[in-house]
Amino acid sequence: MSTLLEVKGLKKYFPIHKGGFGKPQSFVKAVDEVSFDIQVGETLGIVGESGCGKSTTGRTILHLTDPTGGVVMFQGQNLSTLKGKELRAMRRHMQIVFQDPYSSLNPRMTIGDTLEEPLKLHGIATGAECRDRVKDILEVVGLSNYHYHRYPHEFSGGQRQRIGIARALITNPKLIVADEPVSALDVSIQSQILNLLRDLQDQFKLTYMFISHDLSVVRHISDRIAVMYLGRIVELSTKHALYDNPLHPYTQALLSAVPNPDKRLNRERIVLLGDVPSPANPPSGCSFHTRCRACMDICKIERPELKPIAAGQYVACHLY
Ligand code: SF4
Ligand code: MG
Repeated sequence: MSTLLEVKGLKKYFPIHKGGFGKPQSFVKAVDEVSFDIQVGETLGIVGESGCGKSTTGRTILHLTDPTGGVVMFQGQNLSTLKGKELRAMRRHMQIVFQDPYSSLNPRMTIGDTLEEPLKLHGIATGAECRDRVKDILEVVGLSNYHYHRYPHEFSGGQRQRIGIARALITNPKLIVADEPVSALDVSIQSQILNLLRDLQDQFKLTYMFISHDLSVVRHISDRIAVMYLGRIVELSTKHALYDNPLHPYTQALLSAVPNPDKRLNRERIVLLGDVPSPANPPSGCSFHTRCRACMDICKIERPELKPIAAGQYVACHLY
């Protein structure tokens, strides 16, 4: 396997201005020192409760928003050193599928125009060739040329997400960041879209970063999984290690709420104490300590770093 994406110490801080302009009083550390890699053809799942920084991580990696710090290497290129045209050229290879197929499509544009837009933007094709490519991609995602002149409101949620996937796929990318791609869909439609994403991965040798708050969905599609809490990765493991032997108390709590298909592995339900603390004012030391049943004195003072515990299994916790 070779590395497609390497993320080192990625940070995205949002300034908080209390009462007007000038120097920010503090920062929301939405993404704080996040590091991981994704291998060619792999699916890395990113899981965590809402507001833990999953989407911001995805958007920052694609440089849809500028990182505050850290390095994103894509195919060996440091994206932060690229500007304007060069960055746009690179983006052709890294696309995103959004959560909400209702709001991510322009209601005034036909599906044909929507799908031709990236081809024109990236100078990939013009005229009749555009048209042909759109025809092909509509078929690839399970729609047809018949849909070319239609508008988004004429489609169901699942069809719209197929269009969203077609739009991401039409530039022939290597990496797709899928940000909660099935969360807005009915459960019956979710598996169709997940199966489509899997088929496309095989067919086009795609690499996925798959963001979801839903552990069953992530389990279905991922090879490895990163668990995020308050802007940081607290555990990163192969799927099997994570589901069979979760190490971090946060992962253990999340998983205790989802039934395991292997009944022997169903665990006692661990109820998390309290709510997720405000990312504008995270707890000292281990940011999970306010909700952790295993909290020790050191946890309130010293932040645990993500370190390897077993083959392919990393955890940030003082218990290990
Ligand atoms: Fe719990 Fe301490 Fe581990 Fe944090 S470092 S998860 S508080 S045991
Ligand atoms: Mg999100």
